[in-house]
Amino acid sequence: MTWAGWYRRTVERRRAPAVVLMYHRFTDASPDPWSLGVSAAHFAEHVALLQRAYRPASLAQLAGEVARRRIPRRTVVVTADDGYRDNLHVAAPVLGAQGVPATFFISTGAIDSPGSFWWDELAALILGDHALPADLPLPTGVRWTGASEASEASWTADRPPSTNRDALYLATWQALFRAGPEAQSAAVAALRASIAGSGSRFPTLTGHEVATLARMPFVEIGAHGRTHRPLDHLDGATVAQEVHGSCADLAHLTGRPVHSFAFPHGAHDAGAFAAVRAAGIRVACTTVEGGVHEATTLHALPRIHVRNWSADRLDDVLRWWLGR
Ligand SMILES: [Zn+2]
Repeated sequence: MTWAGWYRRTVERRRAPAVVLMYHRFTDASPDPWSLGVSAAHFAEHVALLQRAYRPASLAQLAGEVARRRIPRRTVVVTADDGYRDNLHVAAPVLGAQGVPATFFISTGAIDSPGSFWWDELAALILGDHALPADLPLPTGVRWTGASEASEASWTADRPPSTNRDALYLATWQALFRAGPEAQSAAVAALRASIAGSGSRFPTLTGHEVATLARMPFVEIGAHGRTHRPLDHLDGATVAQEVHGSCADLAHLTGRPVHSFAFPHGAHDAGAFAAVRAAGIRVACTTVEGGVHEATTLHALPRIHVRNWSADRLDDVLRWWLGR
């Protein structure tokens, strides 16, 4: 195939009528090794851009259009994962003022939690400004030399670790990723007891705040598991607890049934798909990067992870997926 032919085919395969954006929290505070934060100022610019130059739609609207195989061009859906408190206090007012709909996927085990998610607590402890002691209680297999180099505040885990503290964070995160909620909490508590650092600055929503968010116009609440564990390679009963349990928790808090789900860490397998279908979920989102086409399956919608980009950068990304 010629270069021009290859390019045309690649671009045509990429071009989609719609994309689903994935946000998490609305602050640019560090440490943020997973690029989860978008500043309030950038988010306001993003929403204004969507309203001005694209076609913002709700996830339910897009689902109907996929099912009917008629998606209007330049459709963009806003979603935010996990259930950070700033979703209500920073994002929702901006969305409401611009009339842009959004779905908030909430991990219900974190509701009313005094701390934050284990990966945020871990980042605050290991990547904070304080010194680290030479002797740390670490998960099996994770080694720490004790010679503490200050972490680079802007390090993100899509790059190789730039200091030994970044490397320690990444190794500990990897060791805990599939360890389950009890082991994760225990590991973070042990570290907290030996490190004179502060806790995470990224609080999660209270039950009252979830109910408030759910009542706002343009807002849909979706489920995101109870403990945010990856739902692949798990037994059926645990997956069902995570999927049905988080839907039931949210229905109880908001008084509304839950129709959408986002797989924690994007992890899914046949068992996770089956659980989501059994729970009556209409739309499930992954973290696979991609656009939404008429043939996209509604139980594995790809999404675009939005970083702390300027509106111009977001516009470039959207044009790359949606065309001009
Ligand atoms: Zn998540």
